[in-house]
Amino acid sequence: MRVEFGSMRYADVSSFHGLRDDDMDSQTDSKDHHIPAPPYQSDSGEAIARQLTGQLHCIGCGYNLHGLSIRSNCSECGIPVRATILGIVDPHADELSSLFKPRLTAIGLNLWSIGAMIAVVMIWVLRCAEVLREFAGTTWTPTLAPWIGLGALGVSLIGALTLIRPHKQINRMEAIRTAIGVSLYAPLMVVYNSVYLGYDAVSPSPMLDPGSSTVERSVLRIAIFVIAAGIIWSIRPQAVGLAVRSVVVRTGRVDRQSLLAVLASLGVAAFGDIIHVLGSLIAFGFDDVLSIVSIAVIALGSALFTVGMVNICLDTIRLYPILKRPGVGLSDIFETNQQKSQRIE
Ligand SMILES: [Zn+2]
Repeated sequence: MRVEFGSMRYADVSSFHGLRDDDMDSQTDSKDHHIPAPPYQSDSGEAIARQLTGQLHCIGCGYNLHGLSIRSNCSECGIPVRATILGIVDPHADELSSLFKPRLTAIGLNLWSIGAMIAVVMIWVLRCAEVLREFAGTTWTPTLAPWIGLGALGVSLIGALTLIRPHKQINRMEAIRTAIGVSLYAPLMVVYNSVYLGYDAVSPSPMLDPGSSTVERSVLRIAIFVIAAGIIWSIRPQAVGLAVRSVVVRTGRVDRQSLLAVLASLGVAAFGDIIHVLGSLIAFGFDDVLSIVSIAVIALGSALFTVGMVNICLDTIRLYPILKRPGVGLSDIFETNQQKSQRIE
């Protein structure tokens, strides 16, 4: 995982943004000052030795480099202006189409991941309470937990809706794929409801002391895994697409594979339930061993799944401020040819 998600560097980008936004007015005011071109602009290196037309703050000391040549050094600390540009500017920011509603998408992405996370945590609450009842003699039954989980899935569904078409570069097929993933929330909530509110209410120790409905419950759990995998598979391109908008992801500081890891862990947990179903259908003669193996595999898959979900939540929380503000593109700090011709006219 990305230990060195550049807190330092990100702070630079955000302060750069903030200052750029704040300085919008002064920037338009100062346009006139730029018209008398400095001498070095007319020599042969003109194309390279452009002036910085946007607000760019030195990566070393924060000094405002506005108006300096990119071949010069910071007048305060001497770090080359090029170092700041390489450190801060996202070369692809200008190519990314802007989000229709940056804040809504940023919130939606987080509702999606955190809602799903809460639904998973509620299952852990149920199972922990079960273990406590069996081994510590407690009587606590978290009757609200499955309801909270169901509500959290609803929140996750609402968040997922914002991911269907967050910007105009998403084509029809991509939007349809995501919409199918979002619609899978309906069967997921139905099955979640029947397992954790239905079966578990009838047989409150489904893991350690399964009743007669244990096979049906296992089949339904497999259905949950399959549906959840379908949702992740359908929504993943959009979620990764949003993550890739951030330069911190492209440079490898945020994990892109966390959703695939979550899919794999769902497979492990489902395998545990498949063992359980097979063990009850076919008399292998070592049912006790099988049921222990099944519980162990389910627990392993669930633990991996939960770790993966935590990582995804952390990623989406980190992406929140990045999505809310667009990336810093070259055209944000340099004059484009179009702007130049407009200025000369
Ligand atoms: Zn400096």
